[in-house]
Amino acid sequence: MLIHLAGECPVGCGGFGLLVIADVSGSPVAYYCDDCTCAWRLPAAAGDCSTPQSLGILTARPASMPEIRSAGIATRITRSMTVGDDEISLFHGRA
Ligand SMILES: [Zn+2]
Repeated sequence: MLIHLAGECPVGCGGFGLLVIADVSGSPVAYYCDDCTCAWRLPAAAGDCSTPQSLGILTARPASMPEIRSAGIATRITRSMTVGDDEISLFHGRA
């Protein structure tokens, strides 16, 4: 799967960065760190750690570039990469 990253995790956990995620049903778009399992509304702030579920993302998937553009955060994307489905624990069990 193709994932888009928006810089470093604000917690400073040293993971590979902030994933941009969305719900399978569509929006909303949010940030997620797979290493400390924190989710954020935009913009991400360290003290603000939430869960994807509490942000309305019940079944997470990577956000697409068009979704990222319509959320107005395309300029925040620092890296796009392809990862295996089993590399991101949030997406485990995804149909
Ligand atoms: Zn983190």
